[in-house]
Amino acid sequence: MNQGRALDSNQIPNAYDSLAAIVGSYGALYPERNENFTDFLRDETFLQGEAGLVLRPKSSEEVVAIIKEVQNLREKFPAHKDAFSLTLRGGGSGLSGACVPQRGIVLDLTGLNQILDVDLKNRFVRAECGVLLADIYRALDESTLQYAVDPSSSALCTVGGSIATNAAGPSSLKYGTTRRNLAALRFAAADGSVVRAGSLPQKTSMGFSLPDILCGSEGRLGIILEAELRLVNKSEETALIVASFATERGATDFIFALRETGLEPKCIEILDAKSARLVDFTPACPEGGALLMIEFDGTEDEVTLSLSRLESVSGALDFAFARNNSARLGLWAKRKAVSVELKKEFPFRLGEDVAVPLSTLSHAMEYARKCAFEKNVATAIWGHAGDGNLHVNYLLENKERLPVVLELMHTLAHEVTRLGGAMSGEHGLGRLKKSVAKQVLPAEYFDIQSRIKNAFDKTHLFNPALELE
Ligand SMILES: Cc1cc2nc3c(=O)[nH]c(=O)nc-3n(C[C@H](O)[C@H](O)[C@H](O)COP(=O)(O)OP(=O)(O)OC[C@H]3O[C@@H](n4cnc5c(N)ncnc54)[C@H](O)[C@@H]3O)c2cc1C
Repeated sequence: MNQGRALDSNQIPNAYDSLAAIVGSYGALYPERNENFTDFLRDETFLQGEAGLVLRPKSSEEVVAIIKEVQNLREKFPAHKDAFSLTLRGGGSGLSGACVPQRGIVLDLTGLNQILDVDLKNRFVRAECGVLLADIYRALDESTLQYAVDPSSSALCTVGGSIATNAAGPSSLKYGTTRRNLAALRFAAADGSVVRAGSLPQKTSMGFSLPDILCGSEGRLGIILEAELRLVNKSEETALIVASFATERGATDFIFALRETGLEPKCIEILDAKSARLVDFTPACPEGGALLMIEFDGTEDEVTLSLSRLESVSGALDFAFARNNSARLGLWAKRKAVSVELKKEFPFRLGEDVAVPLSTLSHAMEYARKCAFEKNVATAIWGHAGDGNLHVNYLLENKERLPVVLELMHTLAHEVTRLGGAMSGEHGLGRLKKSVAKQVLPAEYFDIQSRIKNAFDKTHLFNPALELE
């Protein structure tokens, strides 16, 4: 062995051979040999990454062997640590560039795709990291239980990616984000050891909670190999109400009035006029107004009671109710189509994902729109209003104005932080927002984050493009 040997950069592909051998010829992709190589260099943002190798392991054992061999190569060729780093990739549906590599090796984890156990008595499902959330739902089709985390991207995103981003969805208002629904996980650490963390019972008091730390870590601390996800009862009945309002403030005031009745909706979504009008909702959204989508679930009696109490809350211009499943799912399909329609018209749209305290929701919408208007950028805003989570979409037809949008993201990040909110409610910081975060959040914040990173991954093996320090 040549300790500390320097490699000519065109020798790096040969040095990758020992890694390719772990996954076999179909599991290793090279830039010059595989046409689909670039598919693994991007997510759902406009960012395009670079890498020298894509590895597609099929088992935890292969993942661990890869980690050990990469560390071995790093020791052999210390001048080329970046070429021997791992960017972790799930479904690639991210909206923050978190799985977009800067260089090195992409580890595509979708080959770890087995549902290992569905335990209805203890109410959990154990699945490998590459299983799609939609497949978890399908596995529970015939059961009385459900996995309640429902991001709109469930057909694209994986168990591992959804944990790494602490994914959420409309129903997080009632059922919580991924973090609340994650019982335990097994992860591979940077030295190749495999750690099981967490427990099946809700109650646990055993020092630092590792699942909580890994959840939302954007793949910077370790590779989630499999997870145990908590299940809850499916509800007997669900009803969706679409309500239109003359103003956004009217809509947000309605949310407060609704909460004062003691009602606990499953979700409350908001759409501004621009987004509501992209699809054909009934009731229609007036210019300058907003729509709320409010869903209740529970027993038949509970839902009936919620609907009758809701009628006593004033402020809406008009209501439409959907109590049967096909009408309800049709309305949700429209809600999901808003994003798709927008992307067709504005291919370079950039979506913000801020979260603010509820009392500042309409201010945050007005502020984002005003700042964008001053820079001549149109917006469409929707979000999970009950959680204060807003998707502010800056609408661009071409790339030229991206720097202006990054400036707008910065301005909004400052404002939401001032309001006590978060720069990202569910998509993560990724490569897209890390520089903004650096300017907005205090140095102590990054100091403690980097100490946590070093405690897990002191050789900076995982996701180096996301380094915050
Ligand atoms: C149309 C659309 C709608 C969306 N709607 C929602 C929504 O409602 N709610 C929401 O929260 N998000 C939403 N998203 C964003 C995205 O789907 C989520 O962030 C999702 O959780 C990403 O999962 P993924 O498997 O695609 O991960 P990727 O995009 O592949 O990766 C995301 C991050 O996870 C890390 N990672 C992936 N697998 C692992 C692993 N096994 N171990 C450790 N780290 C890992 C990656 O390194 C990266 O940092 C949406 C995206 C689209 C395109």
